[in-house]
Amino acid sequence: MSRFLIRNADIGNLDDLSTQNKDIYIEDGYFKKIGKIDARECPGATIIDAHNMLALPGFVDCHSHTYQTFIKGPLDDLVITEWLVRLFTFEEDMDDEDYYYATLLSCLSALRFGTTTINEMGGYGHMDATLKAFEDAGIRVTFGISTTDIPENDVTPLISVDEALKLSQEVYEKVHGRNNGLMKASVAPAGLPAVSKEMAVSLKRFANERGLIYHTHLGEGKMETENVARAYGTNGEAEALEMIGVLDEHTLLAHSIWLSDHEIDIIKETKAVPVHCPNTNMKISDGIPKIAQMLSKGIPVAMGCDGEASSGTKDMIREGKAGSYLQKAITLDPTVMDASTTFKMMTINGAKALGYEDLGEIKEGNQADLILVNMEDDLSLTDRDHRIGNLLYAGTGHAVDTVFVKGQLKLRNKHIQGFDEQFILSKCNDLIHKLNVKTGYVKEN
Ligand SMILES: [Zn+2]
Repeated sequence: MSRFLIRNADIGNLDDLSTQNKDIYIEDGYFKKIGKIDARECPGATIIDAHNMLALPGFVDCHSHTYQTFIKGPLDDLVITEWLVRLFTFEEDMDDEDYYYATLLSCLSALRFGTTTINEMGGYGHMDATLKAFEDAGIRVTFGISTTDIPENDVTPLISVDEALKLSQEVYEKVHGRNNGLMKASVAPAGLPAVSKEMAVSLKRFANERGLIYHTHLGEGKMETENVARAYGTNGEAEALEMIGVLDEHTLLAHSIWLSDHEIDIIKETKAVPVHCPNTNMKISDGIPKIAQMLSKGIPVAMGCDGEASSGTKDMIREGKAGSYLQKAITLDPTVMDASTTFKMMTINGAKALGYEDLGEIKEGNQADLILVNMEDDLSLTDRDHRIGNLLYAGTGHAVDTVFVKGQLKLRNKHIQGFDEQFILSKCNDLIHKLNVKTGYVKEN
């Protein structure tokens, strides 16, 4: 049984941005007691001194392609058509060892920055190596595989609807409930520009029968969205998804950029959840979604770091800050996507979107996904009265000191637990260089 008594943590209140100094007792993966706690109430517990530490729920990254951590550089500064071709070319050249270490590196980076849950849209192939990396990292994950049956270019990996259903069943059997319940299965068709109506409808039915999430891209590229609208005879991609019965509260919609006002109302009515990925939207020039408008209608938008080949980072704090600044700038309104709203998008909104009722908040009885942020070892975070806002606007994930996933200690004193970080760094650097040489984008040295 794992037990931790965290003393003197400043627990953040994400409604009013205040903090309250309390002790936190974690037993067997859950918050057992929060308040003033006598150590004699927690026999055998490891005691952690959290003096000057801000305690927040672990971040929930609701849209991810972890394996892309190995192919960041070669995809820099490309137009999307070329970006996609190069992505699929690199994927083709990656072997099991590449997938294992790329996924592990991304998970460990995410943990380092305070993310405890990832909603993964995995690459096609190398499933066992990928799942082993998630399991070894010990991060919470909802996992599905990106499937496509309409080619967007000559190198798109295509599979039939039957094969996609078989693959989804394999994912379900291998993933759902694995690693002490930290791993859940989903279906993850790439998005209507590359997915037939038949595939979308079949996978949605498969997900509904098993209570799984349907995770997809929506309205990411302007031209692709217009093509879908034309093919379906609708005004946009969300209308098309609604028409074929895919939108409901178990559907997560990464990006959701090119939407009409009417489609935002459709999303509100169906309770589907848009996932905001601002760094990707900026870096590959997709556009800026109407997040402030969605929030004003009460849509509980979640956030995601997407793949690092498009966003560059698994740091949810930098993601949240980018999103907040973008919305303030395009609406000419500094009150939108405020710190309270943004941190909720990064935590409880994501947890609820993934179907968790006991995650995303520090409260007794919830699963103990928790981060402690050292607020007194970084000059830019100085100001005890405005810690939560400062963390978002002046901080980065590097300030995160300690991370628990379901009561398991994954980061302590800013060091990943259970791994030799130097070995991982050196191994991944070697594998990335080998991959770059293999694909011909850099010369051997
Ligand atoms: Zn994506």
